[in-house]
Amino acid sequence: MIDQEELQHLREQVDIVDVISSYIPLTQKGRNFFGVCPFHDDNHPSMSVSREKQIYTCFACGASGNVFKFIMDYEHVSFREAVSKVATIAGVETHFQIHQARQTPSRYQEYYDAYEFACRLYQNNLHTKSGQAALEYLKKRQIDDACIKEFEIGYATRESQTLTTLLQGKNYKKDTLLKSGLVVENAYGLSDIYVDRVMFPLWNLEGKVVGFSGRLYNDEKQFKYINSKESEIFKKGELLYNYHRAKEEARKKNQIILMEGFMDVIRAHTIGVKNVVATMGTAVTKEQASHLKRLAKEVIICFDGDAAGAKGTASCIEELLNLGVTPKVVRLENQLDPDDYIKQYGKDAFLRKLNNPMSTMDFKLEYYKKDKDLSDSGDLTHYVKEVITELSKIHDEVLREVTLKKIHDESGLEISFLKEQLEKQKEQKETTSVLEIKEKKIEKKRETKYEKAEKALLYYMLRDEGAIRIYEEEVTFMPTKEYRNLAREIDLFYNNYHHMELADFMTYISGKEKMEEALSTIVSLPLKEEAQKEELRDYARVIREYTVKNEIKRLQKEMAGASLEEKTRLATRIVELRLGDR
Ligand SMILES: [Zn+2]
Repeated sequence: MIDQEELQHLREQVDIVDVISSYIPLTQKGRNFFGVCPFHDDNHPSMSVSREKQIYTCFACGASGNVFKFIMDYEHVSFREAVSKVATIAGVETHFQIHQARQTPSRYQEYYDAYEFACRLYQNNLHTKSGQAALEYLKKRQIDDACIKEFEIGYATRESQTLTTLLQGKNYKKDTLLKSGLVVENAYGLSDIYVDRVMFPLWNLEGKVVGFSGRLYNDEKQFKYINSKESEIFKKGELLYNYHRAKEEARKKNQIILMEGFMDVIRAHTIGVKNVVATMGTAVTKEQASHLKRLAKEVIICFDGDAAGAKGTASCIEELLNLGVTPKVVRLENQLDPDDYIKQYGKDAFLRKLNNPMSTMDFKLEYYKKDKDLSDSGDLTHYVKEVITELSKIHDEVLREVTLKKIHDESGLEISFLKEQLEKQKEQKETTSVLEIKEKKIEKKRETKYEKAEKALLYYMLRDEGAIRIYEEEVTFMPTKEYRNLAREIDLFYNNYHHMELADFMTYISGKEKMEEALSTIVSLPLKEEAQKEELRDYARVIREYTVKNEIKRLQKEMAGASLEEKTRLATRIVELRLGDR
């Protein structure tokens, strides 16, 4: 159990401004500090950090929280780990650190345990007699012992029930086994999914094994992997292979290299390139792109040298540009993937490639030119249009000029004409985004007056104990479920700890997602700091009005089938309600 008071004490030992400014640059303006929010795509300083309240809020995306929440979201760590990091910063030892070695109980713990167990079993197998051929295969692919150890590579034997039987011995239920993705049911009962394969574990962002890629090793021509199917703990689109190992190095170098496959990452590791992760496929999801953005300022995409790799690179650039990141690109000759390239041309040749990446624009020029004949006017028109569209997304003026000059040279079109086209393209884009913003505003306006009052009252309950008392005395029921729950929790917190400190309340509800979401909305409301008692009473009155209205509706319905005597009683009650008697 988490001791709220100890957490509060710990939180008070550090200053959120110091902690956040060790991650992102902050500048002071008035009472608050501002920086570029790391939780959404932006280049403007929309995140404000309050020394007074010890919280941060982003006006653009609504992210908000205390020092623990910031570290959790920034570093992708659990609450416990965030607490432990804060303790380290504060230079104190907490019992969270002492007990950290113990596993954090999670609702998926059984699955994590099963994967951890399987991973160790497979590693062990590789060094037994039955694993000999697999080990030889790895050696043949120039994967040495250090590498095998580092990447926890293993072997699933020919026995098809070893893992299943062992897990059953640990009291795993059939249902859990099947859901885990390690066990399958067939005509003979339950058996292991992976049989006679070299096993590469896949980790989540925290470094827990959540899946495997099992590779056939006895037939070089048969390029076959079986990847774990998606499960409760394995969501392919959310993880990046090697993330937990690469993040330190990536932050140090402020550079992250993105590859397609895990073998590429392992190979890069052998030549000392450690700030590297893989997508495990060519498509990059929005989540993966934002993980990359958080890791480092410079992102280098180094996909396979084939056509699929080029296509994947183009779409990955798109995802990153959407987040305000302009990546660089490395393309490998002869359609090679990084693994083969390094094996064929060696470390130095590959490092030269990495040290001289192409700009996004140069890659795009190459990419759009491919399969086109620029002496053909149809192809040329198509090409120029594509490049102009790309250019409209680029904010770097120098890069824009340089590229315009390049298309001028290639197409013979006047630079002034190209610029005109570019302006038109940009105008079009701006009109669409203005429309989008308008639509969003209209949506927001549909909020009822009750909702508005609920939100305002909650806003002041978080900073003014008087507002909590008004809530206790004058509001019996909040119409919106999320706000109702939040109000109850605030009240509970206040009655437990006899004070209302927002930063501590945030710790208190940590992990309750719905409530955290509601709290974010409330905290980032553009309301003034303090409210008069009369104002607070007004909010309470509006909220009460909702309850009264509903009660009247209910009574009116009841009247329909009631006796005369009953009707009179109900009518009196309605009149009373209308007159404001609760
Ligand atoms: Zn934000």
